Amino acid sequence: MAASLRLLGAASGLRYWSRRLRPAAGSFAAVKPLNFLSGWRRTEARSVASKTPVGFIGLGNMGNPMAKNLMKHGYPLIIYDVFPDACKEFQDAGEQVVSSPADVAEKADRIITMLPTSINAIEAYSGANGILKKVKKGSLLIDSSTIDPAVSKELAKEVEKMGAVFMDAPVSGGVGAARSGNLTFMVGGVEDEFAAAQELLGCMGSNVVYCGAVGTGQAAKICNNMLLAISMIGTAEAMNLGIRLGLDPKLLAKILNMSSGRCWSSDTYNPVPGVMDGVPSANNYQGGFGTTLMAKDLGLAQDSATSTKSPILLGSLAHQIYRMMCAKGYSKKDFSSVFQFLREEETF
Ligand code: NAD
Repeated sequence: MAASLRLLGAASGLRYWSRRLRPAAGSFAAVKPLNFLSGWRRTEARSVASKTPVGFIGLGNMGNPMAKNLMKHGYPLIIYDVFPDACKEFQDAGEQVVSSPADVAEKADRIITMLPTSINAIEAYSGANGILKKVKKGSLLIDSSTIDPAVSKELAKEVEKMGAVFMDAPVSGGVGAARSGNLTFMVGGVEDEFAAAQELLGCMGSNVVYCGAVGTGQAAKICNNMLLAISMIGTAEAMNLGIRLGLDPKLLAKILNMSSGRCWSSDTYNPVPGVMDGVPSANNYQGGFGTTLMAKDLGLAQDSATSTKSPILLGSLAHQIYRMMCAKGYSKKDFSSVFQFLREEETF
């Protein structure tokens, strides 16, 4: 419990970095503090020329546009995904596709992973052909998946044994922000490596926030997504009630968005079909952030709440709702389909 409290305490001392303050590309070596001898030894072996190849593992809904933003910034990529079709457009664009995470680690000393769950991250790092099999000393390994903070800490220990550096850097912002390069990264790890991580993460996000030791990025992300799930369910309930009371959904959304009920789920990602363009509810809830992934994140919040003895009454209820949705055929739909779920659950 004491350790968990320390974790949360570290997250409160956020150091904030925005695109406005980003160092010029290639200049991180100049801003890197040299007084940390251990950190200097770690990075000494790593390429500092900014446009050396970057490894990218996991080219799904998020990884695909994130990797494309690295390409736009001139980074050659070494690509791997268990699902070969996910690599095809990168191969067509001239990027190098390899056949395992170990092969990525052999060819790149900076690697980003963007995988669905803790199990997938463990496989990519510690599996038979995982990154750790061929990782080079001094490599920087950044995991942007949303996973259990305890797993991030374990991976960091394994990576450190190999003389490399691990940072957790989960993201917020969804597929739209991944495409436009406006993600928010929540970064945990050794502070003197933060500038090196910024160089890459700043190509994919407009906010890169240092949270503290390894695992604190995940802690911040889990809290954010629990709040997001609760606010999405609340928005869906309010919109459905208003529609039942005879209000036009577009008008109701407009009123909410100029009133105290306004939130990201109401003004940027409204769950009611026909209210907004360019969001999953306008496209039969395809793409976006899958209901399974939201159920997974709420499970992580539940585990963390149990281990820290934190009451999360609404978070637990949201977890049950999203688990039930998965059981009832919504697992592949975007999490805003909770609106459709509520409509279908109406029995009287
Ligand atoms: P996704 O399922 O669309 O993509 C994951 C990709 O990883 C797939 O292409 C899959 O084939 C690949 N993969 C799985 N296991 C692998 C392995 N062992 N080695 C190599 N590749 C492997 O998931 P996503 O929506 O891109 O989400 C990725 C992560 O980002 C998740 O942890 C999710 O919670 C988080 N996230 C997603 C969103 C979103 O809006 N989709 C937003 C914020 C955070």
